[in-house]
Amino acid sequence: MNKLGLVFDNRYLYHSISTPSPENPDRVCNLYRHLQQQENNRSLFHIQTREATDEEIAMAHSSFYMEQLREHAVKDDPYSYDRDTYLMDDSLSTARLAAGGCLKLADSIMAGEIDYGFALVRPPGHHATPGRGMGFCIFNNIALTAEYLRRQYGLRRILILDFDVHHGNGTQEIFYDTNEVLFCSIHEKGIFPFTGSQEEMGSEAGLGYTVNIPVHPQFGDSEYTYLLGRILQGLVEQYLPQFILVSAGYDAHIDDSIGKTLLSTQWYGLITHILRRHASESCENRLLYVMEGGYNAVSLEASVLATIDAMLQKEVIKPGIFPVPRAEKLLVGHPIHQYWTI
Ligand SMILES: [Zn+2]
Repeated sequence: MNKLGLVFDNRYLYHSISTPSPENPDRVCNLYRHLQQQENNRSLFHIQTREATDEEIAMAHSSFYMEQLREHAVKDDPYSYDRDTYLMDDSLSTARLAAGGCLKLADSIMAGEIDYGFALVRPPGHHATPGRGMGFCIFNNIALTAEYLRRQYGLRRILILDFDVHHGNGTQEIFYDTNEVLFCSIHEKGIFPFTGSQEEMGSEAGLGYTVNIPVHPQFGDSEYTYLLGRILQGLVEQYLPQFILVSAGYDAHIDDSIGKTLLSTQWYGLITHILRRHASESCENRLLYVMEGGYNAVSLEASVLATIDAMLQKEVIKPGIFPVPRAEKLLVGHPIHQYWTI
């Protein structure tokens, strides 16, 4: 039986605002309730979170940014820092707990206590750059986890896959010039944060270690499966990651109105099987999901549960990866071929 470590905590609900925002505690309330009722499921291990320290936050963020956060968190206007990313009294401690929960899961995986991990945290993180929070993100949880794995465990090849509908601009920026983290993002073209073109490929030692796949609206399961199936196969075989991290945003779902892509609930199970296979082939199953977006609470809950189901299934399913002409076309002209055999 696979052991899945989960981080969720009612303190993740404390970062909230009375005016409407897509990023709010209601996103995860029912999901947490559902998981709390799973106490008897012996495959699920509830890992206690902790606050990431200043020193840990500094692995990916500047001290100037920390100062700015402290300053703005006490201002009357919660949007004084950024027009999307509200800051309230509890926001910084919640964001520390989000990052800290990911680090706890990374420790548990490295210690072999669990097979897989899923950090069901908020606020999300992948838009946060070293010096700036944006797009609902305060600390870049996935980047902090990758940095932690480099420093604490000496890992030198970490693969981050980001399938949130938005480009993970913060994560990209943090690892743009290193080859120790290979960042691959599939996201809808032409929407916030308006970065992530296929020509953004990294710089210096990191050249070729940023792979962006901007997709057209109306792409769904078959296009995503074909693109990621092909690309991940090549990247994993040639890079041989020591750890696979996933920026798991669920806002590319057909029922999530923040984007126009058409992924089904089942697709999140399918990609999890693909990733499990790669993790078993390359890195002793080390696979950790960190939740990013997902703004329809119903589809978010169902898709997270589909992911968890796929992590718990005994057998890894090998899905068929079939060419889809419009996705194939996108891959043919992609500059990834300069660096990787796909
Ligand atoms: Zn998103």
